[in-house]
Amino acid sequence: MTTPRALTIAGSDSGGGAGIQADLKTFHQLHVYGMSALTAVTAQNTLGVTDIYELEAEAVARQIDAVAEDIGMDALKTGMISSTPIMEVIAEKIRQYHLSPLVVDPVMVSKSGHSLLEESARKSLIHTLLPLACLVTPNLPEAEILVGKKLDTEIKRKEAARRIVDMGVSAVVIKGGHLDGDQATDLFFDGEQFLAFSAPRIATHHTHGTGCTFSAAATAALAKGESVTEAVYTAKTFITQGIAHSLGLGKGYGPTNHWA
Ligand code: PLP
Repeated sequence: MTTPRALTIAGSDSGGGAGIQADLKTFHQLHVYGMSALTAVTAQNTLGVTDIYELEAEAVARQIDAVAEDIGMDALKTGMISSTPIMEVIAEKIRQYHLSPLVVDPVMVSKSGHSLLEESARKSLIHTLLPLACLVTPNLPEAEILVGKKLDTEIKRKEAARRIVDMGVSAVVIKGGHLDGDQATDLFFDGEQFLAFSAPRIATHHTHGTGCTFSAAATAALAKGESVTEAVYTAKTFITQGIAHSLGLGKGYGPTNHWA
């Protein structure tokens, strides 16, 4: 059997808790060979993002070329993509090399409140990237931005899931980490069935990088041949363990535990 391979196209988090670093740690922990195409470098720690240095779209394209023309991949994900030109070049490369299955983590704002996606790039995410993806993994605030309204009831969240699938993505999981209650319930919809993935809520503020880690775990699972629903289950289990055993590093929102 060949080694499962996965590519992450995302930003770097110098603090190691989110972004490319979280993705590669997750791939490694799930026994998947990880590769990366950087979109931006952030100066960041558990207290927040101090600076963002975006790469040229051309530099992103060349990294994807290098990996696709030689090593290849069994699955890929996108994370932080701050600008429209980078978004468009990624979509172009995905089409050129027929890269799939693709998981899109629609990274918009960090938990520390920093915008990681330019306003104008949101439309581009919806129109260019979502139609290429088998799964998109918004948290509640991101899902609200995608559909343009508050999702404060389950009925509204189900409607939003339908609307997001209508944008052309095969399946969506609206994560429940921002909801109140003693359960963190993620709502999954693939155009046919709704599924709820629940886990007991863990009282901690060490949740930096949970979105990146979740989507990376789903990508690793897909690279290993799991179905989309199985991959979401794997991701939910992985992130629940990671939050439960968070490392407590730093003075702010600490990273989850990728070894858990
Ligand atoms: N920094 C980078 C590079 C990211 O990709 C992300 C991801 O979502 C974040 C920061 C935000 O992490 P969080 O909102 O979990 O703090």
